[in-house]
Amino acid sequence: MQITVLRETQANEARVALVPESVRKLVALKAAVAVESGAGLLAGATDDAYREASADVHVDRESLLASADVLAAVNRPAAEDIGRLKEGAVVLGFLRPLDEPAALEPVVTQKLTAFAMELIPRITRAQAMDALSSMATVVGYKSVLMAADQIPRMFPMLMTAAGTVPPARVLVLGAGVAGLQAIATARRLGAVVEAYDVRKAAGEQVRSLGAQFLEVDLGGIQTEDAGGYAVELSEEALKRGRDLIAERAKSADVIITTAQVPGRRAPLLVTEEAVQGMKRGAVVVDLAGATGGNCAAARPGETVEREGVLIMSPLNLAATVPVHASQLYSRNVTAFLSLLIKEGALNIDMADDVVGPACVTHRREYVHPRVAAALEELAGR
Ligand code: NAD
Repeated sequence: MQITVLRETQANEARVALVPESVRKLVALKAAVAVESGAGLLAGATDDAYREASADVHVDRESLLASADVLAAVNRPAAEDIGRLKEGAVVLGFLRPLDEPAALEPVVTQKLTAFAMELIPRITRAQAMDALSSMATVVGYKSVLMAADQIPRMFPMLMTAAGTVPPARVLVLGAGVAGLQAIATARRLGAVVEAYDVRKAAGEQVRSLGAQFLEVDLGGIQTEDAGGYAVELSEEALKRGRDLIAERAKSADVIITTAQVPGRRAPLLVTEEAVQGMKRGAVVVDLAGATGGNCAAARPGETVEREGVLIMSPLNLAATVPVHASQLYSRNVTAFLSLLIKEGALNIDMADDVVGPACVTHRREYVHPRVAAALEELAGR
């Protein structure tokens, strides 16, 4: 059974799906691993490091695809690459099945078995496979460094012979995985941090990191679902949050926004008026750009300026920390693959409570309902 790793082709992508450390683990499970030459270079993994880990390194991408039983990827592979895989092969990666279901048509027609890393359930048993959390951790960290690099002041409070320098003030909106990592990073740099989230449970986590939790009276409405995710709020509840944020934004040097609601547009939390009320030189880093953004002024993938306030909306920030992002992702992928491998062969148990829910399509016998609906719509046009 051959697991193949290719060089990622998406623009600005520097991550690799499997690093040599994981190759060793997979080889110990009696799988063979084949890697395209140069696949890991931007993530610090040379061809020699892969060879030392017992992978085969090849330059011929087409033959690597044709011989693959499993294609492990970071991003959804291009349709051209998908078309070269053999029927029944497995492909896994961030496939974006809910955002771009129609793009998975080649995977379905090719009768592949596809697993989306973003569909892996966040249950205790699957914690080691939680690639969303891994990437959110990297993104939360990096967003604070980007902001620190842009603001015209320092983060820590300094007491010098020339007097005292006050600490930077950071406001974090959304205290999930990325938000908590942003809080921790800003605190390590010495900033004074405030955070806001609609989930009550976030309060304790925010405070345990030495930040202040901002609470809004939402009149006791339900703010989270049974899975612990935030739900879409009413306009009135959102407005109460926005008013508090606009008030706190006035003294912030940095705002990091991370708020998301699964399957919905990201909530608008920082209005144009709130940006206008910010200090010159302040920076907003909007991490929800891919789902519409939390800041009204943000443009996904761009940096814009409003009277001296910079609003950054970086996309694919995890790829800017490729060594550790790849290491974490590779461990997540390896933990998932180890569920699919028995005695060196593929053994897909769709009844498994992690494998089944992560599946987008299985040899056309199963197609995820959202993907099936998108394909029907395409056929009807
Ligand atoms: P996410 O990326 O979906 O959202 C980020 C944050 O935005 C969340 O904390 C959410 O509550 C917040 N948010 C949404 N709407 C908001 C609004 N209008 N105003 C302010 N904040 C808003 O979240 P995530 O980081 O993926 O984590 C979501 C939940 O899942 C958390 O409870 C987290 O602890 C939990 N989680 C569990 C596991 C596990 O058990 N394996 C792993 C990861 C995360």
